[in-house]
Amino acid sequence: MSNCIFCKIVAGEIPATKIYEDELVFAFLDIGPINFGHALVIPKEHHTSSATIPENVAGRMFHIGSRIGVALKRELEYEGFNLHLADGTPAGQVVMHAHLHVVPRKVDDQFHWNWRQLAYADSDERAGVAAKIIRRLDRKES
Ligand code: 5GP
Ligand code: ZN
Repeated sequence: MSNCIFCKIVAGEIPATKIYEDELVFAFLDIGPINFGHALVIPKEHHTSSATIPENVAGRMFHIGSRIGVALKRELEYEGFNLHLADGTPAGQVVMHAHLHVVPRKVDDQFHWNWRQLAYADSDERAGVAAKIIRRLDRKES
C-alpha cells in the first residue's frame, strides 16, 4: 500500500533498525519502545487486520516473534516477553499495517498491562457468548 509507513519500511524507503527479514516477514525495533529492544514483526505484504494474513505468514510472525523474545532474554538480560497484537482502533492499533509487538520484560520494569477481570452472571450467559463465537467459526467464509 503506497501510503503505509510500514510498507515503506519494508521497501527501504523509510529507515528502520532491521533485526530480521525473510521472504514472508520483516522485523525491526519499535521507535518508541516500552523497554529497549521492543520489536515489531510484520508481514511483508500489506494487511490491515491480522485476520486476513495467510496462515503460513501468521505462523512465521509468531515463530519469529518468539525467537526474538528468546534473543532478548539471552542477550539483553530480560526475564520474559509479551507478544501483543492490536487489531482495530478500539484495540489500540495506530499503524494500520498488522504488526506483532515483542515486548521484553523484567520483574521490576515498572510496566503494567491495564488488565481487568469481569465475571459472567452465570454459566448460561457464558455459554451464550461461546455459542455465538462457535457459530461464526463454523461458517466457511469467516
Ligand atoms: P500499534 O499501537 O499500532 O499497535 O503500534 C504501532 C507501533 O509502531 C508503536 O509502538 C510505534 O512506536 C511504532 N511506530 C510508529 N511509527 C514508527 C516508525 O516510523 N518506525 C518504527 N520503527 N516504529 C514506529
Ligand atoms: Zn502496509
